[in-house]
Amino acid sequence: MSSNNIPSSRRKCVGVKVGSVTIGGDAPIVVQSMTNTDTADEIATTMQVAQLARAGSELVRITVNTMEAARAVAGIRARLDDMGCHVPLVGDFHFNGHKLLTAYPECAQALAKYRINPGNVGQGKKRDEQFSTLIETACKYDKPVRIGVNWGSLDPTMLARIMDENARAASPMDAAQVMRKALITSALESAAKAEELGLGRDRIVLSCKVSGVQDLIAVYSELAAQCDYALHLGLTEAGMGSKGIVASTAALSVLLFRGIGDTIRISLTPEPGGDRSREVIVGQEILQTMGLRAFVPLVAACPGCGRTTSTYFQELAESIQAYVREQMIDWREQYDGVENMTLAVMGCVVNGPGESKHANIGISLPGSGENPVAPVFVDGQKTVTLKGDNIAGEFRAIVDEYVRTKYRKKVANV
Ligand code: SF4
Repeated sequence: MSSNNIPSSRRKCVGVKVGSVTIGGDAPIVVQSMTNTDTADEIATTMQVAQLARAGSELVRITVNTMEAARAVAGIRARLDDMGCHVPLVGDFHFNGHKLLTAYPECAQALAKYRINPGNVGQGKKRDEQFSTLIETACKYDKPVRIGVNWGSLDPTMLARIMDENARAASPMDAAQVMRKALITSALESAAKAEELGLGRDRIVLSCKVSGVQDLIAVYSELAAQCDYALHLGLTEAGMGSKGIVASTAALSVLLFRGIGDTIRISLTPEPGGDRSREVIVGQEILQTMGLRAFVPLVAACPGCGRTTSTYFQELAESIQAYVREQMIDWREQYDGVENMTLAVMGCVVNGPGESKHANIGISLPGSGENPVAPVFVDGQKTVTLKGDNIAGEFRAIVDEYVRTKYRKKVANV
């Protein structure tokens, strides 16, 4: 790790093309997500993939677990293309992937990448045959593969072998070290086998997911040191709500700071009826707050305190963040660099003007006992004082005007 406060340089790895997106190499760290619809339900899955892509997911994984699901994949791809949504689809296979990809060549072709779990490919001799079929299919259709090991489904034969070796060792490892070794061995041996079968290094991504923060950091630190494959980072079974967000952020931030990780997925459990896109937004915000990528202007807001007499400023901060996220879909098409814009919504005069001056656009709302006026600062200069019932609308208009006048218009591709 570097000794200063900036992230270490990225670990060098082989870049992997997944449709139009590159994982690893010199490419920016990719945010991806996964649907939770029944893939056999073509319409529901198409709509959720489109929703995740609209939120900024650069790859979307769908489960392919049954013949009906495999049969639906090509239709989902076609529907998305008809909608103008070209996000690459990744197929998630367990147990029967060799059968599904063989039975549905159009599924094998429509997917941009296959995810296979070496612990769920089969047992004994069958394991080798089924693994070979999966890799040969990837070679035939020129698709990359993520070899995704998960501690909840480690290959039992390999785990038994490592435990036996450990029992005979002069200085045996503890249980956590054995588990880490098993995860990494499974990933690296499977990758080596895939290469022997003809899959290039530039077609292989690895992951070793666990659900404990310290374990994840330890596993990926060791894995990163032992290979130059592109790495997919994610804390498996991160959980719901703030627990899932905090655990994922804690684990991924440490690894990303060390330059480890080429694509991330935040495995949040949505609340019933919750928005699946949350996992995309959290992934983007982790990368953006670490200064690794910029996706959407972020709004700095004070937490509020006894000096704020109403929820107005909280509502304004929330509505402005939602507004810029929504507008960003068009701004990204039209202007260069808007994602780097910074905004501040502050609750009173104590820190309001100061923080607002540090942002591209800031507003300092009136706190308790202050005049009911809200000075606005643009690039550090006070430009206008808003008052009345439409402060939010007028502030949005100032933001729109700033984007129109400060960012270079993109030249349309002819
Ligand atoms: S800026 Fe004002 S309202 Fe916001 S936390 Fe500080 S003192 Fe409280």
